[in-house]
Amino acid sequence: MLLDKSIQELHAGLTKREFSSEDLVRECYLNIEKYQTKLNAFITLVDKEKALQEAKQKDRDFKPGVSKLYGLPYVLKDAYISEDMRTTAASHVLADFIPPYDSTVNKKLKKSGAILIGKMNMDAWGHGGSSENTDFGPVKNPWDTSRVAGGSSGGPAVAISTRMAVFAIGEDTGGSIRNPAAWCNITGLKVTYGRVSRYGTIAYASSFDTVGPMAKTAEDCAVVLEAIAGCDPYDSTSSPIPTEKYVDLLKKNTRNKIVIGVPSEFFGKGLDLEIKTAIESTHKTFASLGMNINEISMPLFDYGLPVYYLIGPSETSSNLARYDGIRFGNNREKFSQETMRRIMMGTYALSAGYYDAYYKKAQKVRTLFIREYEKALAECDVILMPVTPTPPSKIGELLTDPLSILLADIYTSTQNPVGVPSLALPAGFTKNKLPIGMQIVGPMFSESLLLTIGHLYQQKTDWHLRKPILVFNKD
Ligand code: GLN
Repeated sequence: MLLDKSIQELHAGLTKREFSSEDLVRECYLNIEKYQTKLNAFITLVDKEKALQEAKQKDRDFKPGVSKLYGLPYVLKDAYISEDMRTTAASHVLADFIPPYDSTVNKKLKKSGAILIGKMNMDAWGHGGSSENTDFGPVKNPWDTSRVAGGSSGGPAVAISTRMAVFAIGEDTGGSIRNPAAWCNITGLKVTYGRVSRYGTIAYASSFDTVGPMAKTAEDCAVVLEAIAGCDPYDSTSSPIPTEKYVDLLKKNTRNKIVIGVPSEFFGKGLDLEIKTAIESTHKTFASLGMNINEISMPLFDYGLPVYYLIGPSETSSNLARYDGIRFGNNREKFSQETMRRIMMGTYALSAGYYDAYYKKAQKVRTLFIREYEKALAECDVILMPVTPTPPSKIGELLTDPLSILLADIYTSTQNPVGVPSLALPAGFTKNKLPIGMQIVGPMFSESLLLTIGHLYQQKTDWHLRKPILVFNKD
C-alpha cells in the first residue's frame, strides 16, 4: 500500500513519477469507503471527484523543489477553521457553520500544496479524552471497534492508523493529540506553546491550546512541523523564536549523551501493569542507543488534574461565551452535557468569592509546576512517561462516570499548563493487542531533540509499523 510509505518516500516517489498524487488520493478514498462507516472518523468528507481533480491538477503542476507535502492528502481535526468548508468542533452549536477564512495552519498546508480531504470527528470543543462527547457519534478504535479511539483528536488518529490520509493536524490542550495517538498506535507531537499559530483554531483553553502533527512516525511529524511552525502576526502568542530544520536535524544528532529522566511518581499506583512493563522495557532500547536512564522525582504530580480542571474549564467558560446563537451558530441549548458541566465549573471557579480560592490558587500551583519541570529538566534532557494510565476503554464505559474520563488525563495534563512539548509514540501492545504509547517531554522549544529521540527509537523498533490487523483481516 502506497500509504504505508513515509512522507519523504512519498515525496521521492512523486518526484520520480513512480506514482501520482491521484494514486494517493484514490487509495485514501478506498480506505475511507472501507472503514468510515465502521469507525466514524470523519465529520465532513471532501467530495471524492473534487479531491481527485485537485490531485490531477497537482500532478500536472508538479515541479522539482516543491514542498515535501506537495500532493499529499491530509485531514484536519474539526477544530480548525477551513474556508468555505463546514467547521463544527463536533458540536451541533456549529452544525451549519461555514467559515469565510482559513486557520493559519490550513493556509500553510494549502500553500505547501497538500490536499485537504476531510474534517475529523473529536470530542466537542476538545472536551474529552475518548471522542465520545461528540454530536456526530463516537469514534471507534480500529484495533478493537468495541473500544474508544481516544480523544479529543480521535478522528485524526483513526485516519492515520487506517491509512485514510497521509498526515493529520490535531489539537492538544491536555493530551488530545497524545492520548488518541497512544490508543491508535500512531505518533503525535504536542508542540511548545506558541510554536505553531493558533489563529483559526476553535479555542478550548487559550493558554493551553496547541496545534500539532499526527502521523505514522516521528520523521513524518518533523516534516509536517517544518511546514506549520513559526511566528504569525495573527496570533500574538505565537513565538518569534526561529524554527529549526527539524528534518535535517533528525540525522545530525550531535548532542552529548542524552539523559532520560524517569519520574518515579508517574510509574506507581493507578498505572496499568502492562503499560508500566512496556515502557520500562523501552529503557533497554534507549540504552542501546547510547542514552542514559536516570530516576528523578516530580512530587507535584498529584496536583496536575485539579490545576488543569480548574484553569481549563475557566478559560472554556469564557471562550464559549461567544456562541450566543445570535451572531453565528445555533442556540446554546445545543451544548452537550459534558460541555455544560465544564462551562458551569469554570464560571463557578471564576466567580467573585470563589476566584481566590480556586482559579487564583490553581494559577499559583501552575507556577510551581513550571518550576518543577525546570528543576527536573536540569537533571536530565528529557522525561519519559506513560501517556494514559490504561489501555483504551470500552465505548460507553467512561460516560457513566464523568470523573473517570478526567483520570485518563493524569499523565498529559501537566505539560500544557507549563507549555513544554511532548512526543507520544508507540511503545508496545497489551496481551489483547491494544496499542500502548509512551511520551517524551522536553524543555521549551526542544521539538528537534524530541523528534530525534523518537526517530532513533523508531529505527530500532517496529511498533509504529504495525497496522490494526483486526480491522484489516475482517475485510
Ligand atoms: N482530555 C482532556 C480534556 O478533556 C484534554 C482535551 C484536549 O487536549 N483538548 O480536557
